[in-house]
Amino acid sequence: MLRSVILAAARSSQVERLVATAPFTRDVVRRFVAGARTDDALRATRALVDDGLAVTLDFLGEDTVTAEHANATRDEYLKLLGVLSEAGLTPPAEVSVKLSALGQMFDEQLAYDNARAICAAADAAGTTVTLDMEDHTTTDSTLDILAKLRKDYPSTGAVLQAYLRRTESDCRELATAGSRVRLCKGAYREPESVAYQSAREVDKSYVRCMNILMSGEGHPMLATHDPRLIAIGEDRARWFDRGPDRFEFQMLYGIRPEEQARLVSDGYTVRTYVPYGDQWYGYLMRRLAERPANLAFFGRALLSKK
Ligand SMILES: Cc1cc2nc3c(=O)[nH]c(=O)nc-3n(C[C@H](O)[C@H](O)[C@H](O)COP(=O)(O)OP(=O)(O)OC[C@H]3O[C@@H](n4cnc5c(N)ncnc54)[C@H](O)[C@@H]3O)c2cc1C
Repeated sequence: MLRSVILAAARSSQVERLVATAPFTRDVVRRFVAGARTDDALRATRALVDDGLAVTLDFLGEDTVTAEHANATRDEYLKLLGVLSEAGLTPPAEVSVKLSALGQMFDEQLAYDNARAICAAADAAGTTVTLDMEDHTTTDSTLDILAKLRKDYPSTGAVLQAYLRRTESDCRELATAGSRVRLCKGAYREPESVAYQSAREVDKSYVRCMNILMSGEGHPMLATHDPRLIAIGEDRARWFDRGPDRFEFQMLYGIRPEEQARLVSDGYTVRTYVPYGDQWYGYLMRRLAERPANLAFFGRALLSKK
């Protein structure tokens, strides 16, 4: 019920106008999105890097349906990488890319070509790219494109979602030397046939996947705000003797900033995922709609900085 209300709101331009002008929304947006422009992304990145954090930048937008729009997204990433490089912010800053924003929904080859151009620019700037993971219908396509990109750009990162039943097996495949893998719980609404439905099952899967990645050969990126999972991550880092150059924690911009700082001061690498761009309405509403539990997630974040 809640989900359909949010989804209806996400499609309504009237609601968008209402939400966009509400004072509450401005506060939410300001807290979770760096701003609309490349300069805003640069400013947020510099502040985070000055505080000892690494950064991954996401130019907001997904489910692109025209080549023109997909190419414009690619061009924004190329511009961003140039600006970051000139500012001396690479390698601490890398970029996160959604293949659906690059054309994956209607032309996989175009999405691959665009992603490849971004990887080449990142490589020239001395940094790298992580391919965000979207809903389960795109997992195979995204992992195929990842494998192709890694032939020339082996540091291209993958994202695996602990809620998918297939993910333990994907972790085993990807826990190889040099392989960067972000492990998150997963943000989309998925059917029981492919995904664990209860929080407990998802958390248990996360720990199993973390064990595979932390005991493997690759570079795990533990993306979670969950205190229990972070504590288990710290434990596994000690157990498998992984220093700050061999794994990292990742959290979203504006979520638990004090915990991000605490981990940095304890000597861990922490990367903040920073979204920017004017497509913030879709970003916030889709997060809520895909998983209504995220309503509490954003609500909690507004009430607490811990
Ligand atoms: C860097 C990063 C990249 C991501 N990339 C992707 C992706 O490519 N694809 C994808 O599907 N999903 C992605 N996600 C989203 C992810 O899948 C989850 O939906 C999201 O992170 C919420 O799950 P959680 O692990 O943080 O814990 P949750 O289950 O949301 O929360 C668990 C516990 O964490 C604590 N907590 C959570 N939020 C707060 C808060 N604001 N304040 C205080 N305590 C809090 C609470 O104790 C809570 O009970 C990404 C997440 C991160 C952090």
